[in-house]
This record gives sequence, C-alpha cells and structure tokens, in this order.
Amino acid sequence: MERWHTRIGNVDVMRVEEMLTPGFDPAFLFPDYDPEVLKEHPQLAQANFFDQASGKLMSSMHSWMLRVGRHVILIDTACGNDKVRTHPAFQRFHLLHKPYLDCLAEYGVQPEDVTLVINTHLHVDHVGWNTRLRNGVWVPTFPNARYIMGRAELAHWRDPEGGLKVHPMGAEVLVDSVNPVINAGLVDLIDVNDDVLPGISVRAMSGHTAGQLAVHVESGGQRALFTGDAFHQPMQVYRPDWSSRFCEQRAQANATRRALFEQAAETDAILFPAHAGKPHAGRIRRRASGYVFDPLDPHL
Ligand SMILES: [Zn+2]
Repeated sequence: MERWHTRIGNVDVMRVEEMLTPGFDPAFLFPDYDPEVLKEHPQLAQANFFDQASGKLMSSMHSWMLRVGRHVILIDTACGNDKVRTHPAFQRFHLLHKPYLDCLAEYGVQPEDVTLVINTHLHVDHVGWNTRLRNGVWVPTFPNARYIMGRAELAHWRDPEGGLKVHPMGAEVLVDSVNPVINAGLVDLIDVNDDVLPGISVRAMSGHTAGQLAVHVESGGQRALFTGDAFHQPMQVYRPDWSSRFCEQRAQANATRRALFEQAAETDAILFPAHAGKPHAGRIRRRASGYVFDPLDPHL
C-alpha cells in the first residue's frame, strides 16, 4: 500500500486502500462507450487509468479518511472481507481477504478510533467494511463510530419498488453490511444539505442511486467534494453523458454529473471519486469543448 495524503484547509485527507486492480471493460461499464475517447485523450490510455494488457479500466476500491480535530471519518467502506457476492459482475468482490485494516493501521488508526462512517450510497462496494465477520456473525467493524446514511437512500433500498427492483443483488448487501449496523443502534440518518460537522455537509448527488449523497468539505478557503459514484472514471469528465450500467436513473445521473463538473470547475473544488486510478483525485478545468481532468498531486 502506498500512503496518500493531502490537506483541505485544516482537514487531513488520506486514502485507505482495499484494492487497486483492472476492473471492468469500459464497453461493459459504459453502455455508450466509444474507444475513440482513448485516442482523443491519451491521458486516459495511460497505465494508471487503463490496463492495456486486459483492456480494462483501472479500478480502485478505497475509503477516503478525513481527520479533523478529534474526528476520524471514513467516507465509504469499499467491499469488505468474507462477503458472498453471487452476481457474475461482482466476482471481484466475492469472498475477499484484503488487508484493508492493515492499511488503516499504517495511518496509526485502529477500528476503535473511527468516530464517523459516511456511506454515500448503499451499493456493494461502498458499505463492505461497515461490518466484519466474527464467529459467524456480522458485527460493526467500527464499534465506536456513528454511521451516517442518507434517509432517502435507505428508504429507497427498503421500498419493494425501489433499489432492489433495479438491482436485486443489493439484498445480500443489506443483510451483511447495512442491517447489522442499524440493529446495533449505530446509524444516524441524514438529509440533503445537513451538516455533519462544521465545514462538512452532504449534498444531493442523485441518479447513480436515487438518494446518493456527496460529502462537501470547506476549510481554510479550500473546497472538496467526495462524490461517491457520481462519476466512476476520469473518462467521464470528457464524456459527461456516459452513465455506468450500474446507474439507476441514467438521465438524472448525466444531469448530476454535468452540474457537478460545472460547479467543480467554477469553485476550484477537488473531487474525490470512489474508484479512479492513481492519483485518485483531481480538479475539473473548463475548456471550450467541455471539461478536462486535472489530477491532483498528493503529498505521498
Ligand atoms: Zn462504486
């Protein structure tokens, strides 16, 4: 694991890696995919974003960790160990044994030290480390943390006409990674624009899921947005109308993505997506023909 660190004002940001591997074939992930994009933008064909050997996009699974004052905050919790994932598209996430908690420890953080966990949405690769297996039972990995979930997002997955109708494979995720932390009394539900802490709030980022949230950080005159899966890959900065096959509402996801890029370019906010290859975060610059992804140079 490579240590990764930057600062947003007085907020330290680190990346806690679960895995960094070739992921999906872009033609599978993006139904509208056109390989011309790799020729038009050579940045996207570089090894950090695209694995030439397999023809797959480099895919990171990680948490973003924020430290501010006494708080240790994890944004999204990747896939988790020991979880049975039966869907063919999710074989990469099936029965993992990854050293995620060792990575956390390399930053001097033990599970008991985490004070807040924020799930941007309740997909398989964003809630996994919410729990771990102990003596055959799923228990909260972070016993002293409050877990923050979107009220609308949770309701969406509990509604028989909601998320599970589009993605039935979410049912096993609720059972092993969401319900145990709710049953342990650790979950606080949050609404769009609510403050989490001074300078840290949640914003609507709907479309990928109906109730997806982004985490907005403003400190020392700097801004950042932890964007969940509003975009999966830097490729989408150049093709904002390419939603992934896992986006529930593609038209809404496209509109959200365009608005996000416009706002990020306008405010110079650093975007921290959930799956981009190295360096995993960046800014959006506006160009006559659209937007450019400007990778961040973290202080490793
Ligand atoms: Zn994801």
